[in-house]
Amino acid sequence: MKRKEYSVSLTYEELLLIDGKCSEKSQSIVDQAKTEYGFGLDYICNEILAKSMKTGKLTWRYTEISSCKTCDTKPYGYYKYARSSRYHRKGDCNYNAPFKYSGIEPNGGFISFSGMSGICRKCWYNVYLPKLVKYIIENDLPIEIQKNDIVETKYKKDDVRICFNCGEKMYESEMGRRSTLMGDGTYPSKCPKCGAESLLLGNSHEVTGEFTMRKIAHTTEKGGAE
Ligand SMILES: [Zn+2]
Ligand SMILES: [Zn+2]
Repeated sequence: MKRKEYSVSLTYEELLLIDGKCSEKSQSIVDQAKTEYGFGLDYICNEILAKSMKTGKLTWRYTEISSCKTCDTKPYGYYKYARSSRYHRKGDCNYNAPFKYSGIEPNGGFISFSGMSGICRKCWYNVYLPKLVKYIIENDLPIEIQKNDIVETKYKKDDVRICFNCGEKMYESEMGRRSTLMGDGTYPSKCPKCGAESLLLGNSHEVTGEFTMRKIAHTTEKGGAE
């Protein structure tokens, strides 16, 4: 019979107490915490940086949030009914309609807080992004930073793909490129070894998950990264 397992939430200090003395599964969480804590920033930045080191990228996109974790100008709340009905009175909270604010989802989502709670756009651009960018540049972390107004990325992620025809691995940077249908850019399409071309609706050279980070020689800081 399988042994019973317990779940528990621990602080960083408590996690250190089981460091090296636990199952592989638990140790991976301890290691994750040690990586995050090692950056020495706030826990939100720490978590973002740890993920960025793993994926090679710092990205963000717009999303809707129901409150901001950082500032107090965007609290949880609900819109009120504008008129009475059989089920509610005018002015009552509509619990199906939480407040919505424009927010940011970094690196495809958080672990420490999920759902609709998050970071508002103002806090992202004024607090977190400048802090992250400064740390990445100063410590020369091999992370590709999404296009922004503060700084240009020093590194580019170069994905390894595998050819559907010859089975050889290649870097995206070595591949021939083709224009997109919209004509607004190009995409990597051609195997440098056998010449096989991927088509939008046909065979494609699959991304393997391996990658390398390439340093871009000429970058200029736009300033404001302080
Ligand atoms: Zn905020
Ligand atoms: Zn090939």
